[in-house]
Amino acid sequence: MQRRLVIAIDGPSGAGKSTVARSVAQRLGYRFVESGAMYRAVALLALRNKTSLEDDRALAKLAETAAMRFEQKDGVNYLFLNGEDVTEAIRSPEVTDASSIVSTHQEVRNHLVKSQQEMGSEGGVVMEGRDIGTRVFPNAELKIFLTGSAEVRASRRYREMDGKIATASEEVLRDMAERDRRDQQRKVSPLVAAEDAIMIDTTNLTADEVVEKIIVLAGMRAQ
Ligand code: C5P
Repeated sequence: MQRRLVIAIDGPSGAGKSTVARSVAQRLGYRFVESGAMYRAVALLALRNKTSLEDDRALAKLAETAAMRFEQKDGVNYLFLNGEDVTEAIRSPEVTDASSIVSTHQEVRNHLVKSQQEMGSEGGVVMEGRDIGTRVFPNAELKIFLTGSAEVRASRRYREMDGKIATASEEVLRDMAERDRRDQQRKVSPLVAAEDAIMIDTTNLTADEVVEKIIVLAGMRAQ
């Protein structure tokens, strides 16, 4: 019997974390958790309730009381927030921007990290985000840090939007750089590679090539 691992995949926006983590989870029969979706859900609640994005306590309360559940169906990772399907709603530009601010609050992070730890407590999980290898699962059996040139990452994000949102590609690059800067410079759990993470530069690799590398590494760690 092979061990069922915790696989942590971190990195900046547009490095391909979600696509890669989803495929790795599918191939291994593991659970897939997009931790960013949880920060997005808190941001969505805050925008709907007109909660200030600076109000630590109110945001922490939202994070503590929100019921979040992931469900995978037909290759789509659905998120239910207090019973409502918010899979699409959490991808709007307003929520994207707000989630980057919401995630700088210590108390919000504490609540979400706790839920994430529970989701992965039995192993057999691929979790992607910014602090999975450093804070959520510092003992994960396999830690991957995906990087890539800012231009390539921005053009991936742009393609993902698929004309759904009228945004110029330069604007995507600028917004992404701003969110990365916030992630890297925040005091609480900044975006940084864990010392024992394996770095993969995705600039010149396809998603399938990255997935293959991770599957090989997971096979070695699971023995
Ligand atoms: O990964 P995604 O873009 O969906 O994440 C939304 C936001 O949540 C990011 O911009 C980042 O600021 C934050 N985040 C975080 N820690 C994580 C995952 C996401 O701070 N583990």
